Amino acid sequence: KVRVRYAPSPTGHLHIGGARTALFNYLFAKHHGGDFIFRLEDTDIERNIEGGEASQLENLEWLGIIPDESPLKPVEKYAPYRQMERLDIYKKYTDILLEKGYAYKCFCTSEELDAEHEKQVAAGVAPKYNRKCCDLTAEEVKAKEDAGMPYTIRVKVPAGKTYEFEDMIRGHVSFESEDIGDWVLVKANGIPTYNYAVVIDDHSMDITHVFRGEEHLSNTPKQLMIYEMLGWEAPTYGHMTLIVNEDRKKLSKRDESIMQFVSQYKEEGYLPDAMFNFMALLGWSPEGEQEIFDHDGLIKEFSEKRLSKSPSMFDKDKLKWVNNRYIKERSLDEVIDLCLPFLQEVYDLSQHDEQWIRDLIAVYHDQLSYGKEIVELVSLFFEDELHLDDESREFMKGESIPNTLKVFKTKLEELEEFTKENIQAAIKATQKEAGAKGKMLYMPIRIATTGIMHGPDLASSIMLLGKEKVLGRLEG
Ligand code: GLU
Repeated sequence: KVRVRYAPSPTGHLHIGGARTALFNYLFAKHHGGDFIFRLEDTDIERNIEGGEASQLENLEWLGIIPDESPLKPVEKYAPYRQMERLDIYKKYTDILLEKGYAYKCFCTSEELDAEHEKQVAAGVAPKYNRKCCDLTAEEVKAKEDAGMPYTIRVKVPAGKTYEFEDMIRGHVSFESEDIGDWVLVKANGIPTYNYAVVIDDHSMDITHVFRGEEHLSNTPKQLMIYEMLGWEAPTYGHMTLIVNEDRKKLSKRDESIMQFVSQYKEEGYLPDAMFNFMALLGWSPEGEQEIFDHDGLIKEFSEKRLSKSPSMFDKDKLKWVNNRYIKERSLDEVIDLCLPFLQEVYDLSQHDEQWIRDLIAVYHDQLSYGKEIVELVSLFFEDELHLDDESREFMKGESIPNTLKVFKTKLEELEEFTKENIQAAIKATQKEAGAKGKMLYMPIRIATTGIMHGPDLASSIMLLGKEKVLGRLEG
């Protein structure tokens, strides 16, 4: 059975890159009827943040990526799911590696290591541990331990070996063991490093496939050597390409041009199913032209064969387009629920009734790309003064315009009920009586009442502004 995992460190909230990794693992698992596991790589204890795990899980679930197993949904055979609760498991295998001579204790101090590193860099050679502790005798090791000297445990990288594997995305990949120094399996505080713990976990949790970021490509040979030493079979790997911003630069956490965390999209009123759809297109493409797929549609369509080998650009406009497509499909009531909190935060809605707010949001339903956008879209309905731009002012100099507006004003005054239909009729009547047509009819009315040359449906806009305000503006 296919088993994949998403294994974040709880050092921050769910990042776009992490979410995409989780998503591809999830789609792959579900496509093959397998399980998606959430595991916590929390061994970097200084960097862990309060609530990191909960936040990762909540944001994944918001996106619709629900783990089959997690620290909160454990399967006994595989538990625990947090690395810091698995220290005794790692210890068991560390003892085996030490015993078989695949690993050794290293007593070098960080000062010694740093000095050696600098020396190598200065000499122009790739820095690598000099194996000073590799050949310590059992007595020497014991003496140092008895003296209470702290130590790390390093793996003794085999000489002259090639580590190769078939990457699901990159094809054949190979690394030479010569290029890899004896790396640390267990730190002096007894906590394993990522490259070591990940092997023990993936193996003992029966993980079959791993999709992860390309920054892990060079970690793979380190992991493969542990599999080999322990006589285990490694999972099948797929290293995904980078996500880049619109300047084709790698998304760095400090990049301000893009909101980087899933929670930010949630806060701005993006829809989870739209994000799910959009992120699936970040480095993967469906077979045909169609790009909009619902949750199950994506699971059905997904194939690791169509994962991209080149970086994928995070195109904000495309996200807005996708999100708009999903908003259009939602009912007006749902869109009101989405928009209302944003409006309430910025505008005083107390002088408007529920129907007015419904009508207001309905006018923008089809064009809205995310919830918070409603605030700027509707601003003209909350301003008292009109601020015409130069183009509008120029347009309003047209000779026939004062008369057209005068006629329109009398038509509006006659209206008993200020409904969209009646306003439409008033515009028609103005057309006849003032003899104005097309642009020379609509544009002056639009500019005089709303202050802008292009906007939503004219009769609806006038209705929303209200009779009093509109007549006042036509007066001026
Ligand atoms: N904790 C690692 C990360 O967040 C997981 C890497 C892996 O999938 O092996 O990058």
